[in-house]
Amino acid sequence: MNQKGLTIWFTGLSGAGKTTITNALAQELSQKEYSIEVLDGDVVRQNLTKGLGFSKEDRDENIRRIGFVANLLTKHGVIVLVSAISPYQQIRQEVREKIGDFVEVFVNAPLSTCESRDVKGLYKQARAGQIKGFTGIDDPYEAPLNPEVECRTDLETLAESLHKVWSKIESLGYLK
Ligand code: ADP
Repeated sequence: MNQKGLTIWFTGLSGAGKTTITNALAQELSQKEYSIEVLDGDVVRQNLTKGLGFSKEDRDENIRRIGFVANLLTKHGVIVLVSAISPYQQIRQEVREKIGDFVEVFVNAPLSTCESRDVKGLYKQARAGQIKGFTGIDDPYEAPLNPEVECRTDLETLAESLHKVWSKIESLGYLK
């Protein structure tokens, strides 16, 4: 398929819904025979960026490396889905400028919602002081200034969030 490469970058707090939307979108694109790749923050930290921690420097390096791979794939016509907290605005902007074909999706739910979901039990550990520097608790999250899409996952169903992303990439001409 003669498709155009694109990076769709999902940013948001832990538990906001990045992985859930990413997986649903990946499934839908695959069914329609688009060539895709998923770069999930948790998975990447076990290989590509293994050994990096959660200081600002390490978080930025994590995002820089994910961005490097996403850029290579995008240049080869792949639709890349990145799912990573990516809390800092400046490095997201840097990656956006490098890749060019870039759609930022702000997966947004209030901290209280993310915390009550506590999908991985990490908020509980962060509140108990067992994890230090947890985004949203004792580490910053800088919300996107001009995301192409914002999914309010506390107010929308997964189908609605998915539809928003799909419509945007379609209207930008990345789908046939
Ligand atoms: P993240 O990858 O951002 O850490 P997850 O995708 O692992 O978050 O978890 C998000 C949780 O929120 C899931 O349990 C999911 O079912 C739920 N959820 C509720 N509404 C939505 C929505 N509109 N989009 C995505 N997830 C949603």
